[in-house]
Amino acid sequence: MRFLMIGAHQDDAEFECGGTATLLAKNGHQVRFLSCCNGCGGHHINTKEEISARRWEESKKVAKLLGIEYDVWHDVDDCSIMPDLETRRRMINYIREYKPDVIITHRTNDYHADHRNVGILVQDASYVLIVPHECPETTALKEMPVILFMDDPFTNPLLIPEIIVPIDSVIETKLQISAINESQVFEWLPYTYNEPAPDKNNPEDVFKILRGFEITEKTTDKEILNTPFKRAYAVKYAKVAAKHRKFLIKSYGKLGKKVRYAEVFGCSEYGTPITEEVRKILTNLK
Ligand SMILES: [Zn+2]
Repeated sequence: MRFLMIGAHQDDAEFECGGTATLLAKNGHQVRFLSCCNGCGGHHINTKEEISARRWEESKKVAKLLGIEYDVWHDVDDCSIMPDLETRRRMINYIREYKPDVIITHRTNDYHADHRNVGILVQDASYVLIVPHECPETTALKEMPVILFMDDPFTNPLLIPEIIVPIDSVIETKLQISAINESQVFEWLPYTYNEPAPDKNNPEDVFKILRGFEITEKTTDKEILNTPFKRAYAVKYAKVAAKHRKFLIKSYGKLGKKVRYAEVFGCSEYGTPITEEVRKILTNLK
Protein backbone atom coordinates (compact mmCIF):
# COMPACT_ATOMS: atom_id res chain seq x y z
CA MET A 1 0.00 0.00 0.00
CA ARG A 2 1.02 3.61 -0.49
CA PHE A 3 1.25 5.86 2.55
CA LEU A 4 1.71 9.63 2.36
CA MET A 5 2.52 11.50 5.56
CA ILE A 6 1.86 15.21 5.01
CA GLY A 7 3.35 17.48 7.65
CA ALA A 8 3.81 21.22 7.72
CA HIS A 9 7.46 20.96 8.69
CA GLN A 10 10.33 18.55 8.48
CA ASP A 11 10.14 16.67 11.80
CA ASP A 12 6.32 16.63 12.11
CA ALA A 13 5.95 13.29 10.32
CA GLU A 14 9.05 11.98 12.11
CA PHE A 15 7.71 12.85 15.55
CA GLU A 16 4.11 11.77 15.08
CA CYS A 17 4.38 8.79 12.74
CA GLY A 18 8.08 7.96 12.45
CA GLY A 19 7.71 4.59 14.17
CA THR A 20 4.74 3.59 12.03
CA ALA A 21 6.60 4.73 8.89
CA THR A 22 9.62 2.64 9.90
CA LEU A 23 7.43 -0.44 10.36
CA LEU A 24 5.50 0.14 7.14
CA ALA A 25 8.71 0.46 5.10
CA LYS A 26 10.11 -2.68 6.76
CA ASN A 27 6.93 -4.52 5.79
CA GLY A 28 7.33 -3.55 2.14
CA HIS A 29 4.86 -0.67 1.88
CA GLN A 30 5.60 2.55 0.01
CA VAL A 31 6.05 5.52 2.33
CA ARG A 32 6.63 9.15 1.53
CA PHE A 33 6.94 12.14 3.86
CA LEU A 34 5.95 15.53 2.46
CA SER A 35 6.88 18.67 4.34
CA CYS A 36 4.82 21.56 2.97
CA CYS A 37 7.24 24.20 4.32
CA ASN A 38 10.99 24.51 3.80
CA GLY A 39 11.99 24.78 7.46
CA CYS A 40 13.43 28.32 7.20
CA GLY A 41 11.79 29.45 10.45
CA GLY A 42 13.20 26.77 12.72
CA HIS A 43 16.29 28.40 14.16
CA HIS A 44 17.40 31.34 16.31
CA ILE A 45 21.04 31.62 15.09
CA ASN A 46 21.22 30.18 11.56
CA THR A 47 19.92 32.37 8.72
CA LYS A 48 16.75 31.25 6.94
CA GLU A 49 18.84 29.94 4.04
CA GLU A 50 21.24 28.10 6.36
CA ILE A 51 18.55 26.40 8.40
CA SER A 52 16.45 25.32 5.44
CA ALA A 53 19.57 23.80 3.83
CA ARG A 54 20.51 22.03 7.08
CA ARG A 55 17.02 20.65 7.51
CA TRP A 56 16.91 19.30 4.00
CA GLU A 57 20.16 17.43 4.73
CA GLU A 58 18.58 16.06 7.93
CA SER A 59 15.47 14.94 6.02
CA LYS A 60 17.56 13.14 3.42
CA LYS A 61 19.32 11.25 6.23
CA VAL A 62 15.94 10.24 7.70
CA ALA A 63 14.74 9.02 4.29
CA LYS A 64 17.88 6.95 3.81
CA LEU A 65 17.67 5.41 7.26
CA LEU A 66 14.01 4.42 6.90
CA GLY A 67 14.06 3.51 3.21
CA ILE A 68 11.31 6.01 2.38
CA GLU A 69 10.87 8.96 0.01
CA TYR A 70 11.04 12.49 1.37
CA ASP A 71 9.71 15.56 -0.37
CA VAL A 72 9.77 19.22 0.66
CA TRP A 73 7.99 22.17 -0.91
CA HIS A 74 11.19 24.20 -0.93
CA ASP A 75 9.47 27.30 -2.27
CA VAL A 76 7.15 27.65 0.75
CA ASP A 77 8.64 29.39 3.77
CA ASP A 78 7.69 28.43 7.31
CA CYS A 79 4.70 30.39 8.62
CA SER A 80 3.59 31.06 5.03
CA ILE A 81 1.47 28.12 3.91
CA MET A 82 -2.10 29.24 3.25
CA PRO A 83 -5.25 27.21 2.58
CA ASP A 84 -5.99 29.25 -0.57
CA LEU A 85 -7.29 27.98 -3.91
CA GLU A 86 -3.87 27.92 -5.56
CA THR A 87 -2.33 25.82 -2.77
CA ARG A 88 -5.39 23.57 -2.59
CA ARG A 89 -4.96 22.81 -6.30
CA ARG A 90 -1.29 22.15 -5.74
CA MET A 91 -2.21 19.71 -2.97
CA ILE A 92 -4.84 17.99 -5.14
CA ASN A 93 -2.37 17.50 -7.99
CA TYR A 94 0.33 16.35 -5.59
CA ILE A 95 -1.88 13.74 -3.94
CA ARG A 96 -3.25 12.53 -7.28
CA GLU A 97 0.27 12.03 -8.61
CA TYR A 98 1.33 9.95 -5.61
CA LYS A 99 -1.99 8.01 -5.46
CA PRO A 100 -1.82 7.19 -1.75
CA ASP A 101 -4.09 4.60 -0.16
CA VAL A 102 -3.61 6.36 3.16
CA ILE A 103 -2.71 9.94 4.06
CA ILE A 104 -1.62 10.89 7.57
CA THR A 105 -1.73 14.60 8.36
CA HIS A 106 -2.39 17.24 11.02
CA ARG A 107 -5.72 17.93 12.64
CA THR A 108 -7.19 21.33 11.85
CA ASN A 109 -7.11 22.49 15.47
CA ASP A 110 -3.39 22.05 16.03
CA TYR A 111 -1.50 24.95 17.61
CA HIS A 112 0.62 26.09 14.67
CA ALA A 113 -1.01 27.94 11.78
CA ASP A 114 1.11 25.90 9.36
CA HIS A 115 -0.15 22.63 10.91
CA ARG A 116 -3.76 23.83 10.81
CA ASN A 117 -3.46 25.09 7.25
CA VAL A 118 -1.93 21.82 6.03
CA GLY A 119 -4.76 19.96 7.78
CA ILE A 120 -7.30 22.23 6.06
CA LEU A 121 -5.60 21.82 2.67
CA VAL A 122 -5.81 18.04 2.90
CA GLN A 123 -9.46 18.16 4.06
CA ASP A 124 -10.32 20.62 1.28
CA ALA A 125 -8.56 18.42 -1.27
CA SER A 126 -10.17 15.18 -0.09
CA TYR A 127 -13.49 15.10 -1.99
CA VAL A 128 -12.12 17.03 -4.97
CA LEU A 129 -9.53 14.30 -5.54
CA ILE A 130 -12.25 12.31 -7.32
CA VAL A 131 -13.72 15.28 -9.27
CA PRO A 132 -12.32 15.14 -12.85
CA HIS A 133 -13.27 18.70 -13.82
CA GLU A 134 -11.23 20.14 -10.97
CA CYS A 135 -7.48 20.20 -11.76
CA PRO A 136 -7.90 18.38 -15.12
CA GLU A 137 -4.12 18.41 -15.54
CA THR A 138 -3.96 15.32 -13.31
CA THR A 139 -6.15 12.22 -13.45
CA ALA A 140 -8.86 12.21 -10.79
CA LEU A 141 -8.63 9.36 -8.30
CA LYS A 142 -11.28 6.64 -8.42
CA GLU A 143 -11.73 6.85 -4.66
CA MET A 144 -10.56 9.02 -1.83
CA PRO A 145 -7.72 7.78 0.35
CA VAL A 146 -8.20 7.00 4.02
CA ILE A 147 -7.14 10.18 5.83
CA LEU A 148 -5.73 9.72 9.31
CA PHE A 149 -4.79 12.37 11.82
CA MET A 150 -1.50 12.60 13.66
CA ASP A 151 -1.62 12.83 17.42
CA ASP A 152 -1.38 16.22 19.12
CA PRO A 153 -1.77 17.42 22.70
CA PHE A 154 -4.87 19.55 22.14
CA THR A 155 -8.05 18.65 23.94
CA ASN A 156 -10.86 20.81 22.61
CA PRO A 157 -11.90 18.75 20.75
CA LEU A 158 -9.97 15.63 21.70
CA LEU A 159 -8.43 13.37 19.06
CA ILE A 160 -10.65 10.30 18.87
CA PRO A 161 -8.22 7.37 18.68
CA GLU A 162 -9.05 5.02 15.80
CA ILE A 163 -5.77 3.17 15.32
CA ILE A 164 -2.89 2.66 17.75
CA VAL A 165 0.42 1.23 16.57
CA PRO A 166 2.88 -0.31 19.06
CA ILE A 167 6.38 0.87 18.14
CA ASP A 168 8.47 -0.96 20.78
CA SER A 169 10.41 -2.90 18.14
CA VAL A 170 11.52 0.31 16.39
CA ILE A 171 11.84 2.74 19.29
CA GLU A 172 15.63 2.94 18.82
CA THR A 173 15.13 3.91 15.16
CA LYS A 174 12.51 6.44 16.21
CA LEU A 175 14.94 8.01 18.69
CA GLN A 176 17.63 7.95 16.00
CA ILE A 177 15.42 9.88 13.57
CA SER A 178 14.63 12.37 16.31
CA ALA A 179 18.39 12.81 16.85
CA ILE A 180 19.00 13.21 13.11
CA ASN A 181 16.78 16.30 13.29
CA GLU A 182 19.53 17.78 15.44
CA SER A 183 18.91 21.41 14.44
CA GLN A 184 15.49 21.04 16.05
CA VAL A 185 15.96 18.52 18.83
CA PHE A 186 19.24 19.87 20.23
CA GLU A 187 19.04 23.52 19.21
CA TRP A 188 15.78 25.13 18.19
CA LEU A 189 13.23 23.32 20.38
CA PRO A 190 15.23 23.73 23.66
CA TYR A 191 15.54 27.44 22.74
CA THR A 192 11.75 27.72 22.34
CA TYR A 193 11.28 26.03 25.74
CA ASN A 194 13.71 28.55 27.26
CA GLU A 195 16.00 25.71 28.29
CA PRO A 196 19.81 25.68 28.22
CA ALA A 197 21.20 24.32 24.94
CA PRO A 198 22.15 20.65 25.33
CA ASP A 199 25.45 19.40 23.92
CA LYS A 200 24.78 16.75 21.29
CA ASN A 201 28.29 15.34 21.86
CA ASN A 202 27.72 14.84 25.58
CA PRO A 203 26.10 11.41 26.24
CA GLU A 204 24.39 12.71 29.41
CA ASP A 205 22.70 15.55 27.52
CA VAL A 206 21.73 13.19 24.69
CA PHE A 207 20.21 10.75 27.20
CA LYS A 208 18.27 13.55 28.88
CA ILE A 209 16.85 14.84 25.59
CA LEU A 210 16.07 11.50 23.96
CA ARG A 211 15.18 9.27 26.93
CA GLY A 212 14.78 11.38 30.08
CA PHE A 213 14.91 8.38 32.38
CA GLU A 214 15.31 4.63 32.00
CA ILE A 215 11.96 3.09 31.08
CA THR A 216 11.87 -0.65 31.83
CA GLU A 217 9.21 -3.36 31.80
CA LYS A 218 8.53 -2.53 35.42
CA THR A 219 7.93 1.19 34.93
CA THR A 220 4.25 1.85 35.59
CA ASP A 221 1.93 3.97 33.47
CA LYS A 222 1.54 6.29 36.45
CA GLU A 223 5.30 6.83 36.65
CA ILE A 224 5.42 7.60 32.94
CA LEU A 225 2.47 9.98 33.06
CA ASN A 226 3.90 11.83 36.08
CA THR A 227 7.58 11.93 35.15
CA PRO A 228 9.27 15.34 35.28
CA PHE A 229 11.16 14.36 32.06
CA LYS A 230 8.04 15.08 30.09
CA ARG A 231 9.78 16.46 27.00
CA ALA A 232 12.12 13.50 26.45
CA TYR A 233 11.24 11.76 23.21
CA ALA A 234 11.03 8.19 24.55
CA VAL A 235 8.75 9.51 27.30
CA LYS A 236 6.51 11.19 24.72
CA TYR A 237 5.81 7.84 23.01
CA ALA A 238 5.62 5.94 26.29
CA LYS A 239 2.99 8.47 27.37
CA VAL A 240 0.90 7.68 24.29
CA ALA A 241 0.88 3.99 25.31
CA ALA A 242 0.16 4.82 28.97
CA LYS A 243 -2.60 7.30 28.14
CA HIS A 244 -4.30 4.91 25.69
CA ARG A 245 -3.76 1.70 27.68
CA LYS A 246 -7.42 0.67 27.50
CA PHE A 247 -7.48 1.20 23.74
CA LEU A 248 -4.24 -0.80 23.40
CA ILE A 249 -5.83 -3.69 25.28
CA LYS A 250 -8.99 -3.40 23.21
CA SER A 251 -6.91 -3.46 20.02
CA TYR A 252 -4.31 -6.11 20.93
CA GLY A 253 -5.75 -8.06 23.85
CA LYS A 254 -3.27 -9.09 26.55
CA LEU A 255 -0.34 -7.93 24.42
CA GLY A 256 -1.69 -4.41 24.76
CA LYS A 257 -0.83 -4.45 28.45
CA LYS A 258 2.86 -4.81 27.69
CA VAL A 259 3.23 -2.21 24.96
CA ARG A 260 5.72 0.43 26.11
CA TYR A 261 5.72 2.86 23.16
CA ALA A 262 2.98 3.70 20.68
CA GLU A 263 1.72 6.12 18.05
CA VAL A 264 -1.99 6.86 17.86
CA PHE A 265 -4.09 8.14 14.98
CA GLY A 266 -7.54 9.61 14.52
CA CYS A 267 -9.51 9.48 11.26
CA SER A 268 -10.96 12.23 9.12
CA GLU A 269 -14.63 11.83 8.29
CA TYR A 270 -14.00 13.35 4.85
CA GLY A 271 -11.79 10.60 3.45
CA THR A 272 -12.70 6.96 2.91
CA PRO A 273 -13.55 5.40 6.30
CA ILE A 274 -10.78 3.11 7.56
CA THR A 275 -11.03 -0.09 5.52
CA GLU A 276 -10.49 -3.53 7.04
CA GLU A 277 -7.39 -3.89 4.88
CA VAL A 278 -5.84 -0.65 6.20
CA ARG A 279 -6.74 -1.55 9.77
CA LYS A 280 -5.22 -4.99 9.34
CA ILE A 281 -1.98 -3.59 7.96
CA LEU A 282 -1.58 -0.94 10.63
CA THR A 283 -2.38 -3.26 13.52
CA ASN A 284 -0.18 -6.16 12.37
CA LEU A 285 3.12 -4.37 11.79
CA LYS A 286 6.09 -6.43 12.97
ZN1 LIG B 1 5.53 21.46 12.72
